[in-house]
Amino acid sequence: TKHVGRNGYHFFQPSMNTLAQAHLQLMNDLWLALDRHEFRLLYQPKFHAPAGPILGFEALLRWEHPQQGLLSPDLFLPLAEKTGLIVPLGNWVINEACRQLREWHLQGHTEWSMAVNLSTLQFEQPALVRTVLDCLARHQLPPESLILEVTETTAMSNPDESVRVLTELTNAGVKASIDDFGTGYSSLLYLKRLPACELKIDRAFVKELSGESEDATIVSAIVALAKTLNLKVVAEGVETTAQQAFLTQLGCNTLQGYLLGKPVTPQAVDALCSQAVPP
Ligand code: C2E
Ligand code: CA
Ligand code: CA
Ligand code: CA
Repeated sequence: TKHVGRNGYHFFQPSMNTLAQAHLQLMNDLWLALDRHEFRLLYQPKFHAPAGPILGFEALLRWEHPQQGLLSPDLFLPLAEKTGLIVPLGNWVINEACRQLREWHLQGHTEWSMAVNLSTLQFEQPALVRTVLDCLARHQLPPESLILEVTETTAMSNPDESVRVLTELTNAGVKASIDDFGTGYSSLLYLKRLPACELKIDRAFVKELSGESEDATIVSAIVALAKTLNLKVVAEGVETTAQQAFLTQLGCNTLQGYLLGKPVTPQAVDALCSQAVPP
């Protein structure tokens, strides 16, 4: 047993102590996880509205913790962002997603794109553009097949710099998507300057969608705005056939959600395709 100093120890409730310990343990495990190859990517399909074909996939990170099982990004991404681990981890995500896409392209699905989420800290790395372009070259992928998803909030954290970085990337052919749209505070003028190809309507607006809801008005407005700016509209979190029909009618180009396809392992994607497309 460890010796605990007389000061300090008794000020904590045992439960608090356990919680703090669990937090420290997780932080420690997180740094080792990359070297131990414990991170996985799941792939969620994006469909041409209303029901296909599949246009591509979004890579979604998971941590296969040796004791705690498969962990969602909400449980470790904030910690990874705070400690800076998100930079090497994010680089791993970009590379692994590109490697997987190349495999699918070689299997004949050359029309598929891959979307990768970028965190704020990752987006602010001076080496980001170089990293992305090197990765595309390494895997012999056309730049147009990669979509970088940046949240409206990330883009707004340093608006001028975001325009500069996204311009550099889109000039090279890479696509950009404004994620969680509607939750941030970007202005129309700013949106017009951002060289993105699509807006992703946040799940929150899709959730309560029905003919009479206020969210229907918001979604219509976002679609109209996107059309004006020449952007595609992706709706995420589509769970019901009613939402699917309504979003399609409102003019959303792309749908994503549990109704059409959950995030799955690459093996599950392969299994689906070997059924659908005979060799
Ligand atoms: P996001 O980019 O907005 O991704 C959508 C989230 O909604 C995913 O959660 C996805 O699994 C979930 N989702 C998809 N369809 C549905 C649906 O129909 N209903 C519901 N209720 N949920 C649905 P996930 O995988 O837990 O990821 C959460 C967030 O973590 C992501 O939100 C993204 O911001 C972040 N994230 C995930 N992977 C990465 C990554 O590789 N790098 C970075 N920087 N962030 C990531
Ligand atoms: Ca996303
Ligand atoms: Ca989103
Ligand atoms: Ca989100």
